[in-house]
Amino acid sequence: MNNSVILTLSGGLDSATVLALAAKQQKEINVITVNYGQKNWEKELQNVKKLCEFYNVKELKIIDNTWLGEMGGSAITDENILLKSIDDDKIYVPFRNTLILSACVAWAETIDCNLIYTGSIDGNSEDICPDNTPKYYKLFNDLVREATKKNIKIIAPLLDFNKKEVLTIAVELGVPLEHTWSCVTSNLYPCGKCFSCSDRKNAFDSLGMNDPNYKVDKVKKYESK
Ligand SMILES: [Zn+2]
Repeated sequence: MNNSVILTLSGGLDSATVLALAAKQQKEINVITVNYGQKNWEKELQNVKKLCEFYNVKELKIIDNTWLGEMGGSAITDENILLKSIDDDKIYVPFRNTLILSACVAWAETIDCNLIYTGSIDGNSEDICPDNTPKYYKLFNDLVREATKKNIKIIAPLLDFNKKEVLTIAVELGVPLEHTWSCVTSNLYPCGKCFSCSDRKNAFDSLGMNDPNYKVDKVKKYESK
């Protein structure tokens, strides 16, 4: 039986936890990471490589989708759009998740892999990201079943969990938290203001943990134009 999985990895806490889960399941792991022009790409790639090494990933495929970032439309990619508050909904990147999953499906067909894992969490946040819900994954799986010659299943193992719960799982699985990065606006220091920074900080605080990457003296003061 084929025991391989293709996993989307951004170097963030969520996808790193799914990677640890796949490793615990003793799967043969192949990773896709995508440069879609995100502002924190250098940091993401740095952590992706460290995590792949840590978890003995068989192959890392780096996809170039920088054209997506050039289109703009998101605070994650567009230098002209700044996040003004943690509630700002401009963290959605137009059609990003479907593009990333499409690359995974194409690779899965090529290497006879039947399983794809993604790091999506908080599946009920459809107001912000419509491509991150149980309904979305059901419909995407329906499309894959219709559009491919293989029996490929896409699973988001953490879709029902929030950040605090994911951090709890990450700790249990021994994820190297120092090799995960959450801030979506910066490569150097976490901005401390974006939704991802806030969500991560609240999770660590609620568990009484210190975040190895988010030391207070290193947090860059948020700058707004
Ligand atoms: Zn941030």
